[in-house]
Amino acid sequence: MIEVKTKEEIELMRESALIVSKTLGILAKEVKPGVTTLQLDKIAEDFIRSEGAVPGFLGLYDFPNTLCMSPNEQVVHGFPTDKPLKEGDIISIDCGALKNGFYGDHAYTFAVGDIAPETQKLLEVTKASLYVGIREFKFGNRVGDVGYAIQKYCEDHGYGVVRELVGHGLGRKMHEDPEMPNYGKRGRGKKFVEGQVVAIEPMINMGTHRIKQHNDGWTITTLDNKPSAHFEHDVALVNGKPELLSTFAYIYEALGIESDEEHEFRQQQLVL
Ligand code: MG
Ligand code: MG
Repeated sequence: MIEVKTKEEIELMRESALIVSKTLGILAKEVKPGVTTLQLDKIAEDFIRSEGAVPGFLGLYDFPNTLCMSPNEQVVHGFPTDKPLKEGDIISIDCGALKNGFYGDHAYTFAVGDIAPETQKLLEVTKASLYVGIREFKFGNRVGDVGYAIQKYCEDHGYGVVRELVGHGLGRKMHEDPEMPNYGKRGRGKKFVEGQVVAIEPMINMGTHRIKQHNDGWTITTLDNKPSAHFEHDVALVNGKPELLSTFAYIYEALGIESDEEHEFRQQQLVL
């Protein structure tokens, strides 16, 4: 059942989402060759707690850390390690925070130093597909419309769309109804309703869409060991339109990137 949120609850969810956004902005400055993902995890946990929130993933389904850290061929759900990042890596950082009873949950894939042009393209296309999907999260549409749009966009670029892992409703629980696959058919699935909040999160592989799950019970990698990218935003349906609750603005500020990509999805001005 879809848990509809009141206007007040959506504002609380915005607060949780922005704590995650700020965390990712702090990490953006720290992602560089030589840093370990465990060091980044500590920075994130300290910041989230300093905001009066708790890490959303820590202990969830027994996950042992604050951040899901998935470098290169890892798709999602990797955990932090003491292995340093190196030039040319990419690292998907997925972060959750819980405050006032509501979760924020979003993710960004960072380049570590200079990366190969084909990997850069994978990041750009995956992030663009996130907005292609968000654009379909509107009154009158259904779950399949979002999935179809993301799948078509990514497959047109020759990439593989992961099937086994999906986006989700978000609220008092990290994973609420409905499931939000990054593939699908137009006009299929549950109809969107005013006041619902979803996490849309394309997980896109440079090669095959097929994946393998590792014996640690968490790590998921591409079957062909080619890179995989992951971007995620939290979005509410407000006035029949998508309203972004999370932002990459803190990341862009840290990295000196100018972008107006979020502009069309914001009915309320973002105050950084
Ligand atoms: Mg996430
Ligand atoms: Mg999620």
